[in-house]
Amino acid sequence: MRTAGSGAGGASRRTTAPSGPGRSQAAVSPVGGEASPSWSGLPAPSPSEAPARVLTLATPLSGIAGVPRAVAQGLAAMGVATAGALLDHLPLRYEWVHPDTPVADLPPGAIVAACGTVTATRVVLRRPRPRFEAVIVDQTGRLEVVWFHMAHLRHQIHPGMRVRVQGKAMRGRGAMRMVNPGFRILEDGAGRTALPPAGPRLRAVYPASAQVSSARIERLVRRVLPRLLAAVEDPLPEAVRTARALPARAEAYRLIHAPESEDDPVAGRRRLAYDDLLLLQLGVQLKRAQLRGAMRAIPLRWDSRIDQRIRARIPFPLTPGQEAVIADVVRDLTTPTPTNRLIQGDVGSGKTIVALYAMLLAVASRHQAALMAPTAILAEQHCRTMVDLLAGSRVRVELLTGAGSGGARAALLRRIARGEVDIVVGTHALLSGDVQFASLAVAVIDEQHRFGVSQRALLRSKGTTEQLTPHVLVMTATPIPRTLAIAVFGDLDVSEIAGLPAGRQPVTTRVVGPEKRDEVFRFVRRRLERGEQAYIVVPAIGEGVEGEDVPAVRALVRELQTGPLAGMRLGALHGRMTRQARDQVMSRFRAGAVQALVCTTIVEVGVDVPNATLMIILGAERFGLAQLHQLRGRVGRGDKASVCVCVAQPGTPQAAERLHAFAQITDGFRLAEIDARLRGPGEIFGAQQWGQGALRVADLWHHSDLLQAARADAARWIAESPRLDRPQDALIRRRLLETYGKGLGLGDVG
Ligand code: ADP
Ligand code: MG
Repeated sequence: MRTAGSGAGGASRRTTAPSGPGRSQAAVSPVGGEASPSWSGLPAPSPSEAPARVLTLATPLSGIAGVPRAVAQGLAAMGVATAGALLDHLPLRYEWVHPDTPVADLPPGAIVAACGTVTATRVVLRRPRPRFEAVIVDQTGRLEVVWFHMAHLRHQIHPGMRVRVQGKAMRGRGAMRMVNPGFRILEDGAGRTALPPAGPRLRAVYPASAQVSSARIERLVRRVLPRLLAAVEDPLPEAVRTARALPARAEAYRLIHAPESEDDPVAGRRRLAYDDLLLLQLGVQLKRAQLRGAMRAIPLRWDSRIDQRIRARIPFPLTPGQEAVIADVVRDLTTPTPTNRLIQGDVGSGKTIVALYAMLLAVASRHQAALMAPTAILAEQHCRTMVDLLAGSRVRVELLTGAGSGGARAALLRRIARGEVDIVVGTHALLSGDVQFASLAVAVIDEQHRFGVSQRALLRSKGTTEQLTPHVLVMTATPIPRTLAIAVFGDLDVSEIAGLPAGRQPVTTRVVGPEKRDEVFRFVRRRLERGEQAYIVVPAIGEGVEGEDVPAVRALVRELQTGPLAGMRLGALHGRMTRQARDQVMSRFRAGAVQALVCTTIVEVGVDVPNATLMIILGAERFGLAQLHQLRGRVGRGDKASVCVCVAQPGTPQAAERLHAFAQITDGFRLAEIDARLRGPGEIFGAQQWGQGALRVADLWHHSDLLQAARADAARWIAESPRLDRPQDALIRRRLLETYGKGLGLGDVG
């Protein structure tokens, strides 16, 4: 017999026995107990049976000892209702609290500290309360201090010393008073100096409300922080943490809520930011793996004959940038792995042709293609471009927007479903449930930043079966640096169309004040008389809402027609017009019959009229940099020199800086960087990109090094555990499911 201890022997027999009726029960029950630290689903134990409640991050604030009811309620009204939410209620900034208050400013009734020189002392030994008294002065005033029952202090405190006292200040007769304060001798008057006073400390300033002040939140956090921190679990393996020199997650919260130096919150935030980014990267990479693993796309044929046939339709030599991206696209589309590629290219770089090439590959293999644009006007333009380029071929191109009437629309949908249409160009109307394709092989989304990820997924679901999905290309002229693109659209491959077609004239940009408005219109008039064409954009009022600016458009047309542009042929264009009216104006503008187009930002993306050379933007201070850049991109598309004039009255330094940058810089990538610096990165990517909501602390520009680290760590993690189902993955898996829901193919167990 080698097992000596009978109790241990019994336990070890149970856990090592491979079978037996009692085994599973004995082994599982303690684990089951541990695995549910949250007792929210259990009946609340009475305080007497469970004196030590288990605090989890899900525990409501009202259930935490020491949290005043009013504070809990006030915080709940701010959306901070649980222990975890309180930890995530991060300080806005920090203030140094200097513990020494000038004597003249001592607030009566508060516990404060003051520093000064002792000018007089006296001992009063009279009973019943013998006392030691001292007068302390600083540059601002005089403080009388009394220590009852401490006459022995006469041996320690002498005139000439510098001391620091801390206690409750009271207003006395003619001077401030303190009774029995704590004290510390700073200089003993004989040249000996004590340690400097306890250093100033950092106080966190929290987002607050009328009900709960920052100070109350700070006091509360300080009081409960140790208990909250004990509930914080760290999903990150020790090895990764060490390799990335990051603090543990609980420590990160401590550094943020109770910093000892200015560096502490920075270090703490880095850890939380890393966690955001790691989750994002795990999410996008799992999603990508899932797509590649579970779905197939139609591999398209490509040979030099097909290539020749497509190129014969393109009226100009492609730029090297376009050639490179077409090579990427051909490589993608000829395999059965579903393509998910982001094509970035500055405004005017010629993305439409790349899309056309991809779509014609689908048609050459006798499948269908779809092109989705964010506005009807852009879809209409794309459709016209395709029809023109494909004139005389057998390729059938149709337009599908929300506008079509019932009967015609139904007929078109039937033809699409039967495969009688080869290329469908449309708006988000393409996503409608009744749109069915016979065999959709390629789907292109133009100006992807105007769409969200869910729309990409919807378009993808237009494949013929659940496992068969189209190759998806998304194009954007809101350029972001490649590394960021990879991270934010992490489930996408990225190509860039470098450079612009040859022969482009740079656009001259001017920013002028509103007092120059008349002068600007005189300039426009001279140019129109020379046969050039202009866009005149009225200020955005409700950004992005089509139709908001209609009255402004009408008013401006009237003003110009009766004033500075009298006799010129003007057209109006806005989102409230019917498709026919819009079509008519656009084709008249294209043909030169309309000389100046007074419009809303409806022309912002994609519109392509190479003969237009003037872009006049009124109220330009209201536009973001990306928007301004898009608008400017409407001109300079042909071989004529173009001008962009911003009439602006910047009301903030930021707006002024934005316009200044816009006037100096024409490179969309550089502008995007400046935009991110000025506005914060969130807005760059639009409101609804994948994972946006999950970035609570991370700043994609500021933490770009962390982004790279998180990306690599996520890849390694998934390589080791593709379904994140090891025991050590449980925490991160739970957070992924909480953050991104069930769309990652992880299932909901674990
Ligand atoms: P964007 O990248 O902004 O979508 P477009 O595809 O609308 O750009 O192209 C801008 C203009 O440049 C169009 O008029 C298009 O016909 C023209 N274009 C595109 N590629 C070339 C090229 N390789 N050479 C000359 N012009 C081109
Ligand atoms: Mg375009």
